[in-house]
Amino acid sequence: MRVAFLGLGIMGSRMAANLATKGFELTVWNRTGSVAEAFAVQHPQVSVAASPQAAATETDAVFTMVVDGPQVEQVLLGDGGAAHGAAPGTLFVDCSTIGVAAATALGRRLEALGMGFLDAPVTGSSPKAQDGTLTFMVGGSAADFERGKPALEAMGTLLVHGGPTGHGQLIKVINNAVAAANATTLAQALIVAARAGADLEALVKVIASGAAGSTMVDLKARPMLTHDYTTLFKLDHMLKDVRFCLEEAQAAGVPFEFAQATELVLARASAMGYGDVDFAALIEPLKADSGTSL
Ligand code: NAP
Repeated sequence: MRVAFLGLGIMGSRMAANLATKGFELTVWNRTGSVAEAFAVQHPQVSVAASPQAAATETDAVFTMVVDGPQVEQVLLGDGGAAHGAAPGTLFVDCSTIGVAAATALGRRLEALGMGFLDAPVTGSSPKAQDGTLTFMVGGSAADFERGKPALEAMGTLLVHGGPTGHGQLIKVINNAVAAANATTLAQALIVAARAGADLEALVKVIASGAAGSTMVDLKARPMLTHDYTTLFKLDHMLKDVRFCLEEAQAAGVPFEFAQATELVLARASAMGYGDVDFAALIEPLKADSGTSL
């Protein structure tokens, strides 16, 4: 299968590396060209294209992993965009988290050009991207899902077909709001515990081993305790996702109060300058509020 991969950031570089090592005929493009050149040095069998349009010629599938809807639109349908180089029938698979409305609109435009389209956002963060063990939540036709499977299986272990176009995004943004609310609850618990004089190591050990445990506890308790905000998932990207979820809650006419509270905490952390570091830094505004240091 010939694949073009557009966007080699934290996630895209690791996902594309799995395609390269698992035998796909891979062409890559990245906005900052030096990143793509460095990738090709590590993976000599990979070709580097000068534009998304060039990357998409003579390929079966075009994957995108950039940040948001306007970026995907630009990379696929803007000047030099991949859709201008792809043959009709090419499958486009967007793995970025761009929200339901943007994915639905993009799918319509690509389908009008005779292309296939899947919205296939991921969960699992950079360690799972690296190991090829991501979860993909996929929206689109059953036939396109089958066509995309070989490449998706090279990058992930759980592929969930959530329904028509947009429903991969729908599941993804609700999932991320739950993860962010979990992380915010953890941060608040650590602050209460610190103020009350609890042994934080003992507390985390107990939380992690029982009913209150979660992947967020496993991944974020240590960074919160040690103020190590090395970026696995940028705080501003999590804020974007929680806002997408709140748009869906509003459209559905139901409140999601824990997501709303989490959005406020993330927005304040972003305003404090933590937008580009890991979202474990959401604990910082809570520490500032309570005058607590861990
Ligand atoms: P990232 O490290 O910031 O990478 C962003 C990528 O988008 C880079 O390749 C960047 O290119 C490119 N880009 C930025 N602005 C662009 C533009 N205007 N036009 C074209 N390309 C542009 O982000 P990431 O962590 O890989 O996340 C990518 C997506 O996956 C996001 O939607 C995020 O919400 C989602 N996601 C992330 C994680 C995670 O744990 N990190 C987990 C699940 C989902 P340059 O190199 O030129 O900047």
